[in-house]
Amino acid sequence: MDRQNFAKPYREYTQQENTADMFKEFDATQLYCPRCKQAVPVRKRLLLVLPEGDKYEYLCAFCSETVGTKMDKNGAPDSIIV
Ligand SMILES: [Zn+2]
Repeated sequence: MDRQNFAKPYREYTQQENTADMFKEFDATQLYCPRCKQAVPVRKRLLLVLPEGDKYEYLCAFCSETVGTKMDKNGAPDSIIV
């Protein structure tokens, strides 16, 4: 076990991961609802399943207004099942 080697790359790794995590956290983040006129908790709903990824819709938890959509790219190989 090389402890020095373990600690250093781990820190760099987490720093890089933070940027990606911010986008993942977007799921749990509150979004602005034009109808409630405030930031609201959202519900994620699967809208479409496309070859390039899944499209999700975000609904206001209070009034069910659509407050946003998101493309969740699954990074699948571009093979299409015919
Ligand atoms: Zn609302």
